[in-house]
Amino acid sequence: VKESGKNNYQWYTPAIETARTRRSLIERLLKSALDQGEFRLVYQPKWELRRNEVTGVEALIRWNNAILGDVSPAEFIPIVESSGMIHEVGEWIMHEVCRQFKIWQKENLSIRVAINISGAQLLHPQFLDHIQKVFEEEKVEPFHFELEVTESVAIEKVERVIDVFCRLRSAGFLISLDDFGAGYSSMKYLSQLPVQCMKLDKTLIDHVSYDERSQVIVSTLIQMSHQLGLTVIAEGVELQEQLQQLQAYNCDQIQGYLISRPLAADDLMTRLAEIRSG
Ligand code: C2E
Ligand code: CA
Ligand code: CA
Ligand code: CA
Repeated sequence: VKESGKNNYQWYTPAIETARTRRSLIERLLKSALDQGEFRLVYQPKWELRRNEVTGVEALIRWNNAILGDVSPAEFIPIVESSGMIHEVGEWIMHEVCRQFKIWQKENLSIRVAINISGAQLLHPQFLDHIQKVFEEEKVEPFHFELEVTESVAIEKVERVIDVFCRLRSAGFLISLDDFGAGYSSMKYLSQLPVQCMKLDKTLIDHVSYDERSQVIVSTLIQMSHQLGLTVIAEGVELQEQLQQLQAYNCDQIQGYLISRPLAADDLMTRLAEIRSG
């Protein structure tokens, strides 16, 4: 098959065939993943710059399957979404986060836990009922939790999202706009969305230590967010130089391998003690 040209027969190439086979394999194996206990959550610290401490963590899902091994959520979450399984998986994540939060509470670790909510999940007509049910069953207060929703979702269905966000906020949840600056960002919507925190995407942070244009963009976004009353967290911080720039721009929080990789719940306490002692 010809690779390119006017008539593009790309969809017959072996690479794409392989991708399709893998996708359908993933889809099939996902169906039993929940029941087989193949999912777990890891937690990545969020470090508060001025207070010099970790005040929150983000829950991130992991999937290990006997046939496929570890599969990245970047690959399987979109499939979980499009196949309609996200509501079930999303509920499991929320229960699991609540359960873990209560364990940490017993150990006297008071920490805010952020949960990623995907677009399909947020826009499900019963999402608000589901989330309310989970938190009532688990008997935990929503104000200990943060919901991360990607900017692209918020902008696609802006009216609907504003309504859902308002209800979540009055229930007590904190809301963050995830991956800000990764796609096209609309300042108009940003001013309308009732969110409390903005997460600057890793792609903005990658060049912030040496590229002047990135520096202008990042520092301006931080200033603007502050003027809108939002806190700002930078994600994907890997280098000391990036941290220094972000500190100079008065960024509120950072998250990234520089502080910690995502950890199993049991390893969090130990890592927090290490971070505290520098
Ligand atoms: P995200 O929400 O933007 O999460 C940040 C991703 O960046 C995570 O990848 C995290 O492990 C990674 N990361 C954090 N710090 C660094 C760093 O310093 N350098 C680099 N290179 N990477 C860093 P992960 O865990 O593979 O998740 C990928 C995406 O999958 C997430 O992006 C999110 O969109 C989705 N996802 C993960 N867990 C969940 C979940 O529980 N529910 C939903 N709905 N989506 C999830
Ligand atoms: Ca996130
Ligand atoms: Ca993100
Ligand atoms: Ca991301």
